[in-house]
Amino acid sequence: MEHELAGIDGLLIDLDGTVYLGDRLLPGAADAIESLRRSGIPLRFGTNTTRMPRSAVVEGLRTRGLDVVADEIFTAPLAASGLLEKRGLWNVSLYLPEATYEDFDHFTLNDTEPQAIVVGDLGRGWSFDLLNRAFRQIRGGAEFVALQRNRYWETSEGPTLDAGAFVAALEFASGQEATLAGKPSPTFFQAAADSMGIGLSAMAVVGDDITTDVAGARACGAKGVLVRTGKFRADDLEHARPKPNLVLDSLAGLPAALGAPHG
Ligand SMILES: [Mg+2]
Repeated sequence: MEHELAGIDGLLIDLDGTVYLGDRLLPGAADAIESLRRSGIPLRFGTNTTRMPRSAVVEGLRTRGLDVVADEIFTAPLAASGLLEKRGLWNVSLYLPEATYEDFDHFTLNDTEPQAIVVGDLGRGWSFDLLNRAFRQIRGGAEFVALQRNRYWETSEGPTLDAGAFVAALEFASGQEATLAGKPSPTFFQAAADSMGIGLSAMAVVGDDITTDVAGARACGAKGVLVRTGKFRADDLEHARPKPNLVLDSLAGLPAALGAPHG
């Protein structure tokens, strides 16, 4: 057992860039996950996608050849719906791709006088009128929840505006800071730790994003493990504060780092 991960009783593993890339699992990822399962350590998978409900994430993993159950998946929309439930805000206005609405099917959609608005990556769905409606709802007292605040993402057409650009526009205009539900918010990591029945200090977050995964984990007391796959850049690691507790070439190295049995 390597000392970096001593005392870890549960794992929250990022998906995009860590378990899979595009439509394929990363080499060794499936074996590593199987080996971790065999070792008995609880696993959860956490993604910031705002374009898919949990059911589609599960389906997407199965299509790529990885069997997971829905309860193992944590997404930004689910973190937001948990947050709204806790605060008793049941009338909501959603700025999300419609596919994601199913994670909010126990809420009442109310675009006239919502108690909260939830902003995710609406992409081309944004218009001036829609952005302005969200702005007016915040001005009218609605709680402002953002699923994530990523600046941009890479698509086949080139770098593309992500939800963060629109969240920032609404924050700027309204003077209200959004409550973040996805990674790196403590809400997200706490929900994953709670579901495994462990404290944050006993959880390791494993991912390819030095900010969202690693710094986010460390900021709330969890361990952060960086993998050199996906969006990993040596440059980012060099300048990163705080540093990861551990850096692995890929997820394939995780069982050995935890002292899990092989084979
Ligand atoms: Mg990732």
